[in-house]
Amino acid sequence: MILQIDAALLKTMADSAEAAWPAEACGLIVGRGRGQLIRVTRIVPAPNLLADTSDRFELDPAARIRLEVELRDAGGKDRVVGHFHSHTDGTADPSGTDRAQAIEPELAWVVVGVVDGQAVQTLAHRLDTKRNAFRPVPIRTPKKRCCQTASGSA
Ligand SMILES: [Zn+2]
Repeated sequence: MILQIDAALLKTMADSAEAAWPAEACGLIVGRGRGQLIRVTRIVPAPNLLADTSDRFELDPAARIRLEVELRDAGGKDRVVGHFHSHTDGTADPSGTDRAQAIEPELAWVVVGVVDGQAVQTLAHRLDTKRNAFRPVPIRTPKKRCCQTASGSA
């Protein structure tokens, strides 16, 4: 799996992580695509039922059900491809708690590391059920062509 995530959507996750600090933020990731490349189309922040702690999250299952129903009713290609949460110690690798909670190998786990209320890094992983461990998932951010002159070079 490779996740293609626009800068604006990466920022949505970082903003959500910073707003939740010193608790963990969490939310759902919607995308489309078959095979290796998944293009993320939407980030949907969701309530963390354990927001009174600083090192755990439990994404409100009602938020996921609502989103799944909405996507199904829309009849498009978008589906839930993963979720994100934040770590308040700055790390963006999944923790031991995350490994114990991971049960859906088809979902990407995106973690935003936050230090002193500032998002510092974002990494993605996916559960490898054979090894019972997380494997890194590359995040690709397409560059926008914003600054070219009419002659094609700046
Ligand atoms: Zn975690």
